[in-house]
Amino acid sequence: MAQRTTKGHILVVDDEETIVTVVTDILLNEGYTVLPAYSGEEALDIFATNKVDLVLTDICMGGMDGFELMKRLQLVDSTINTIVMTGFDSYDTVLTALQAGAYDYLQKPLDNHPALVASVNRAYANAMLQHENTHLLLQLEGSHEKLSKANRRLVEVNHKLKRLAATDTLTLLFNRRYFDQVLKREADRRNRYKLPLALVMLDIDHFKKINDTHGHEAGDNAIKQISTIISDCARTADIVARYGGEEFVIVLPQTNAQNATVFAERCRVAIEEAEYILTDDVTVNLTASLGLAGVDSDDPAITAQELISIADKALYKAKANGRNSYVIGDRLGDDKQEAA
Ligand code: GH3
Ligand code: MG
Ligand code: MG
Repeated sequence: MAQRTTKGHILVVDDEETIVTVVTDILLNEGYTVLPAYSGEEALDIFATNKVDLVLTDICMGGMDGFELMKRLQLVDSTINTIVMTGFDSYDTVLTALQAGAYDYLQKPLDNHPALVASVNRAYANAMLQHENTHLLLQLEGSHEKLSKANRRLVEVNHKLKRLAATDTLTLLFNRRYFDQVLKREADRRNRYKLPLALVMLDIDHFKKINDTHGHEAGDNAIKQISTIISDCARTADIVARYGGEEFVIVLPQTNAQNATVFAERCRVAIEEAEYILTDDVTVNLTASLGLAGVDSDDPAITAQELISIADKALYKAKANGRNSYVIGDRLGDDKQEAA
């Protein structure tokens, strides 16, 4: 019969040379590469330095016996399949070998070649499937790790994109678009849970003059500095946004109009007291006017649009009343000037 291409490497161990020769001939004919060993010690040496897919070993050998050899082989490679070769009369030995992890057993004198070949082919196929299984599991672990890394990055990038879409580029405050969403959300929440809610609109006084006198870039510097002051005056839960040019809006959750005056006054004073560096050699003082809109827990439902409209009208009144002041807007339009 013509020799086939190598299937795998089989270590054949027996202290009887004739057994090794017989088994080797059969396996070579089946297309396996055979590594012969004539003692347990020699088998261990070969196993340590060669690729071995399957082991066929005698049990009763001089020196290290087959049980000890199996134990030592498993310490090196716990997945190695071993077929033991025993005499007819040693059923207990077979049982012990199988309990010790042997894949199969063959009975000497091994004249039943088809049985030997079938057992070896099965053990070899099993070893190959085990390798493939281990390989696939490793691949899966790698892919899983890659996938969760990509997923984490995706969440991170999406978070950054969302934040970017909500940010005003000049001041880094929230932008108008985000403010519109937040005010609607807060108004809905407030109406459902009967909570207080306030909105403050702030416009810098006579800002056109700043631009006209010192240029647009100088004006931008002032807008940036005022935005920091407003943020510093607000609490963490408050939402500060740039509404337009030099107008700002501040949403104050769980705060009624009366309590919002504390924020408005603090903000007004801080803006008035600050010095604004417009260019290397120009510093100015600025003031701002503020309009407040707010509802208390027991007030009827209100829309975001109503809050904006009330705050806007109140701001207009604060301007009309001489600026650098705040006005609390009223739902009936009966606004009250409160400061400066
Ligand atoms: P007041 O509010 O006190 O009635 O007077 P004002 O001069 O501030 O009037 P208004 O609020 O209408 O002014 C808007 C001016 O703000 C117009 C423009 O010169 C300036 N402005 C608007 N947006 C920007 C901006 O993004 N950068 C700069 N530098 N200036 C802006
Ligand atoms: Mg304005
Ligand atoms: Mg203005």
